[in-house]
Amino acid sequence: QDTVVIIGAGQAGAQVAQSLRQGGFEGPIRLIGDEVTPPYQRPPLSKKYLLGEIGSEALLLRPPAFYTTQNIDLIPGTSVSSIDRGAQRLSLENGDTIGYDKLVIATGTRARHAPIPGADLAGVVTLRTIADVDGIRERLLAGQKIAIVGAGYIGLEVAAVANQLGKDVTVIEAQDRPMKRVVSPFISEFYSALHREKGVELRLGTGVEAIVGQDAVSGVKVAGGEIVPADLVLVAIGAEPNDDLAGAAGLETDNGIIVDGAGLTSDDKIYAAGDCTRFYSNRYGRSVRMESVQNAIDQAKIVAQSILGEDVDYDPLPWFWSDQYDIKLQIAGLSDGYDETRTIGEPKDNKFYVAYLKDGRLIAVDSINSPRSHMMARRVIGESWRDDLLPAA
Ligand code: FAD
Repeated sequence: QDTVVIIGAGQAGAQVAQSLRQGGFEGPIRLIGDEVTPPYQRPPLSKKYLLGEIGSEALLLRPPAFYTTQNIDLIPGTSVSSIDRGAQRLSLENGDTIGYDKLVIATGTRARHAPIPGADLAGVVTLRTIADVDGIRERLLAGQKIAIVGAGYIGLEVAAVANQLGKDVTVIEAQDRPMKRVVSPFISEFYSALHREKGVELRLGTGVEAIVGQDAVSGVKVAGGEIVPADLVLVAIGAEPNDDLAGAAGLETDNGIIVDGAGLTSDDKIYAAGDCTRFYSNRYGRSVRMESVQNAIDQAKIVAQSILGEDVDYDPLPWFWSDQYDIKLQIAGLSDGYDETRTIGEPKDNKFYVAYLKDGRLIAVDSINSPRSHMMARRVIGESWRDDLLPAA
């Protein structure tokens, strides 16, 4: 049987391997990852793991023995440096080469680095991996003043954890509201109030001029010249797809590796899945690149099915969550383009949801501590709105 090689042993890469075996694939599977830890889930990194509530074993997607019993050749701590499509061979950073019949690229994203002076000072960090969090946690516990550049969900989750650990937290965001890319103004407003009530200083509409310090960071210089003191600065300004390896091999990329509904790239022996991909969504009428566990898992399953010869077409309903303090935000669908909203439940009780409608149809729901409305929304999005379409919050 064919040899399937998977580059990137994260959420999507591990799922491809697992789904291939579940689907009866008996050929060799090689899962190559540049991190030393076996495949793990990232969402708790900025939540319970940073808080110290769970250890690293709890992050693992499968116990290490799983890969042996499933006959999946997990090759950790190994970076792939190039793909020779003609020879169907990969070069590894350690000088070895590995041949493939089918290749899956599941290389994820990397944290975007700030193009600002001082960003390379000691104590300026980004958060993507277990190793990042282990370093951050040490500095977080040792310091008192924490500055976070970027009020996306990772920045705010870390703000919540640092606040819970008794630290003085300032979040600096260039946009006029937090999580602007993923939620509506109403939900942003809810989160601004939440963090401020807890004592986090939230500076919106504020640019960063530089990160300052002698040997290590001592503060963030914001627009206007004021310096926000900091022992630790987390730069959380988004992620960039790891699509360079694919691009260098001549595969089509455009801020993400371009794949079709079967997860195939522009080479019919090479698939891609997860955060590193971009695909056309019929549902949304545009190309999208998702960064979510839902997309990593569902697209990986599609790739496995394709390799097994099934006829598939990927066009998922996106969903996502974020935990801050004791508040769980769950997002179903993409709300952009809505022309009407319905708020059900009580924002002041921290238990409600916002339904987004377009032309009378439900297109998305943001749920706050209302898991039932989220689960139901995932089934009924697309239907015409009626008052009993979703349960009470
Ligand atoms: P990854 O899980 O990033 O795996 C890619 C792997 O490929 C990495 O290990 C990478 O090091 C490796 N790799 C890259 N290049 C090479 C190479 N050349 N050779 C070998 N290996 C390589 N999503 C949610 O839905 N809900 C959440 O609450 C949530 N919270 C998150 C919190 C944090 C802090 C982070 C970082 C992400 C969060 N996400 C969340 C997003 C989610 O974790 C990602 O969408 C998901 O991990 C994507 O899976 P992936 O397999 O595409 O990429």
